[in-house]
Amino acid sequence: LLYNEVQDLKGTIRVYCRVRPFLQGQKDMQSTVDYIGENGNIIINNPFKQEKDGRKIFAFNKVFGQNVSQEQIYIDTQPVIRSVLDGFNVCIFAYGQTGSGKTYTMSGPDLMTETTWGVNYRALRDLFQLSNARTHVVTYEIGVQMIEIYNEQVRDLLVSDGSSRRYPFIYFIMKKSRLLTLDIRNNSQLNGLNVPDASLIPVSNTRDVLDLMRIGQKNRAVGATALNERSSRSHSVLTVHVQGKELASGSTLRGCLHLVDLAGSERVEKSEAVGERLKEAQHINKSLSALGDVIYALAQKSSHVPYRNSKLTQVLQDSLGGQAKTLMFVHINPEVNAVGETISTLKFAQRVA
Ligand code: ADP
Ligand code: MG
Repeated sequence: LLYNEVQDLKGTIRVYCRVRPFLQGQKDMQSTVDYIGENGNIIINNPFKQEKDGRKIFAFNKVFGQNVSQEQIYIDTQPVIRSVLDGFNVCIFAYGQTGSGKTYTMSGPDLMTETTWGVNYRALRDLFQLSNARTHVVTYEIGVQMIEIYNEQVRDLLVSDGSSRRYPFIYFIMKKSRLLTLDIRNNSQLNGLNVPDASLIPVSNTRDVLDLMRIGQKNRAVGATALNERSSRSHSVLTVHVQGKELASGSTLRGCLHLVDLAGSERVEKSEAVGERLKEAQHINKSLSALGDVIYALAQKSSHVPYRNSKLTQVLQDSLGGQAKTLMFVHINPEVNAVGETISTLKFAQRVA
């Protein structure tokens, strides 16, 4: 894709499908992915069904097979990301069941290894590079927020408990407070700053960003029995706010980029879930269907877009629809025992594609 081509994608919704590879020790496993076409088709084979009922075809803007690298994924993401510097609002989502590769796509397996960095760090690195290259025309200020939505409550992840002195740059800026429940405000004056009380931290290089991510990830684990457990049941939203000032005209532009690692989309057996677990499952279900409904309404050019049905869609309201660009990565796990979730994930994605 060329940068110019994407200029015309205002208000559009693109859906990319990514197939997770088998993990170590799983090399000989049977895959439910039968075929991937260059044109964005994917065929899933359900071995538990008869041949004619077992094969299902889905079509997306692109399908990435299991050997596609993080770099290749970024090449197809870069044009929408760069448009933030021209004043567009962008949302990028990672959708899929727990273990299907959402966090891998957005963040990567760890923060240390640059070659496997995910969309988040690549996007920020790219925005820094491009904004530096434009300083003779536009000067930019870039800031980030990081929040978590858990059980329909919004919490700031960029807070410090005061115990860490390892991040001197950030340490002095961050609020010292426990995680608080924050309000959402939808007001066009705020221009994407819909959670105005969440810390907004200025950043100017990837080091700053990595430091912030570490703090955010640490805060995400608070109150959870295990990090994975908790992160699979909350949505995390990293928002990059960009403000540019044109030197010649003095005019300003604003854009924001939301990078969203969604809660796991797996359905929870009614009989299995009780108490807290049931409440979490209901909240996740509600917010993912609300997101699906919003994107579907936008794709249908419907006059009523139901933003108010979940905290997630309220937070992202200014960046979904209108001139904004949306990119959804749907992830699938190719294992045979995941086939039920794979089909329901692809059906969800097909509805909004
Ligand atoms: P999710 O966030 O959807 O729960 P993860 O991103 O944590 O899933 O992925 C589950 C496991 O699979 C992790 O060990 C991750 O490193 C690995 N994994 C996911 N996608 C890929 C990929 N494209 N290439 C290599 N390993 C991957
Ligand atoms: Mg994850």
